[in-house]
Amino acid sequence: MRPEILNPLFTDTTYLPGVGPKVAALINKVAGPRVIDLLFTLPTGLIDRSARPKITEAVEGQLVTLEVSIDKHQPPPKGMSRLPYKVLCSDESGFITLAFFHARADYLLKMLPEGSKRLISGKIERFSGGLQIVHPDHIVDPEKADELPLFEPVYPLTASLHSKTMRKAVSGAVEKCPDLREWLDPSVVAREKWPSWRDAMRSVHQPQSRLDLSDDNVHRQRLAYDELLANQLALALTRQNRQKGKGRILRGDESLRSAVQRALPFSLTNDQHQVLADIYRDMAAPTRMIRLVQGDVGSGKTVVALLALLCAVEAGAQGALMAPTEILARQHYEFIAPLLEDTNISVEIVTGRDKGQERAAKLAGLEKGYINILIGTHAIFSDDVSFNDLGLIIVDEQHRFGVFQRLALQEKGLRSDVLVMTATPIPRSLALTTYGDMDISQIREKPPGRQPVDTRAIPLERLGEVSSAVSRAIERGEQVYWVCPMVEENADIELTAVETRYAHLQQLLGDRVGLVHGKMKSAEKDAVVTAFYNKQISLLVATTVIEVGVNAPDATIMVIEHAERFGLAQLHQLRGRVGRGNRQSTCLLLYKAIEKGELGETAKARLNVLRETDDGFVIAEEDLRLRGPGDFLGSAQSGFPDFRLADASKHASLLSMARDDSALILSQDPTLSTVRGQALKTLLYLFSRNDAVKLLKSG
Ligand code: ADP
Ligand code: MG
Repeated sequence: MRPEILNPLFTDTTYLPGVGPKVAALINKVAGPRVIDLLFTLPTGLIDRSARPKITEAVEGQLVTLEVSIDKHQPPPKGMSRLPYKVLCSDESGFITLAFFHARADYLLKMLPEGSKRLISGKIERFSGGLQIVHPDHIVDPEKADELPLFEPVYPLTASLHSKTMRKAVSGAVEKCPDLREWLDPSVVAREKWPSWRDAMRSVHQPQSRLDLSDDNVHRQRLAYDELLANQLALALTRQNRQKGKGRILRGDESLRSAVQRALPFSLTNDQHQVLADIYRDMAAPTRMIRLVQGDVGSGKTVVALLALLCAVEAGAQGALMAPTEILARQHYEFIAPLLEDTNISVEIVTGRDKGQERAAKLAGLEKGYINILIGTHAIFSDDVSFNDLGLIIVDEQHRFGVFQRLALQEKGLRSDVLVMTATPIPRSLALTTYGDMDISQIREKPPGRQPVDTRAIPLERLGEVSSAVSRAIERGEQVYWVCPMVEENADIELTAVETRYAHLQQLLGDRVGLVHGKMKSAEKDAVVTAFYNKQISLLVATTVIEVGVNAPDATIMVIEHAERFGLAQLHQLRGRVGRGNRQSTCLLLYKAIEKGELGETAKARLNVLRETDDGFVIAEEDLRLRGPGDFLGSAQSGFPDFRLADASKHASLLSMARDDSALILSQDPTLSTVRGQALKTLLYLFSRNDAVKLLKSG
């Protein structure tokens, strides 16, 4: 249960003064439904009215606060209501006019009685020789000077949500902030000179200068740290809980592994050896393995997967390898099956297409344990599939995040070790905040003999030359991928674009051209890709569906239209489709020039990164730096946590600190039961990490 002290923060915003259902609906659009959502919506700007000049010192265009005497009201002449209502004012230095259009005289007489003094805040203008302020933002009696905010925070707004309303709601929310027991280590607070949570919250909503809005403002840092700590602590708890959950010891005699390694036409790279050492160590441990292997396309993850599977089989268990598509599942099968031909190990493949007796036979073999290794799509986790003794599950999810989480392995009561393989090199900060509950291994080294792909950026206008070059390559017996632009908002336009390009290339090259796109049935897609793989087709026109991988070693050219629309990591993935054999390969990034053959600065910087390096990890870091985490991989479905107060790339040092801190916390107080532990539970609730708190109870 959420600690009661937090209740005021988790109620609807209608609970705040000045917020009715209508306003709450608008606030919901920019912040969220609850009081805490308002607190987490930090100001993005600042209006500074602290300049207090005399009238004659005021500069045109400046936002000022003046103290003036109200001398005389001057309503517009009768019948000229389009002219402004004027109020003439002065101080000892000079004169200024306040102007109001469509004014209500009675209201103005009340606000600005002749002969009184008033504080007026607004923007100075010059009009027919004199100074004026049109519709001042604030008019206040000097005796109530503190009602005039000299600094006003600026919040995100939406139509019909006024800044005043929003500000009032936020300050109402700030008023509701309870005084929470400190959850940070006192020495950290002292070292960083951090304020308490409540003071920090109050201060970030009352900025006094532009500096207060920067990421390294001490109040913002404290709040960002709280959020990162909640994230890291929740991940550490998940990890701690999983390690407590019983795994099993899988330790083989190496017989199969050495036989297969001898049969391989190559020897493993150092990184492959290193990753395998991590995996074997985890498998031999009594705790459950949950490990993520990151490695670029072509870095050789499949053979790592195979050896891990063999380790499980040597130990007397079964292994399963799950691929994201049927094509990939089949490629894995075709790589693995021949290597096991001379052994007594049985490997099978199950996809959604298996039906009837054949499927029934495979499932029976699996259940009886005759099948040692099963390869397939997610169909291998259908309800009717049961294993005799599944020891290791490998998910080759490439860059599709989240599949693993959705597997609900726990529900199946499986204690199997789990290995997830991804082709997306994830920047360190994102890996920490997203996969902090897994152990991570990286393959950075490419197998020897690879020639770097010659990468060039070419304006779309030169499409004709590109088509001819492609045509010549095909004459030489090479194969080509041609990727059409992504149109995120409109799948129909995307389809038209890819079909038009297909028709055009078909005219040029005849029936050696194939087409795959996302709207095709998977059997149709498979047929085309298989034809490409078998070299019945030389040119494959595709939308980004090919990203999820086909291994065609003789493909040497990758053409990407509208490269400027793709994320860097994505372009890198696509490029990884060529250069797999030993021929020189080329990647042509066709871009749409924005003006006179020029590409925008960021776009240029992005394409240059690709030309300069082939290291997916470097590219990923650059992509994150250039586009920010929201855009990394281009979409919300990327599965990265949405921070409200922290930014994993800008607060990288805070992130490492939070990681170390959470490890230390759990080593000293694994059940969070000390006084500080209780405060940390409140922190978890504050950031809605309720699930993590539940883990404490179940443990
Ligand atoms: P990934 O799945 O990481 O994209 P693959 O496992 O498909 O990469 O490997 C790409 C290619 O490299 C395959 O043809 C594979 O046989 C080959 N390969 C893997 N490891 C090595 C190695 N150590 N030396 C040479 N070739 C290798
Ligand atoms: Mg692979």
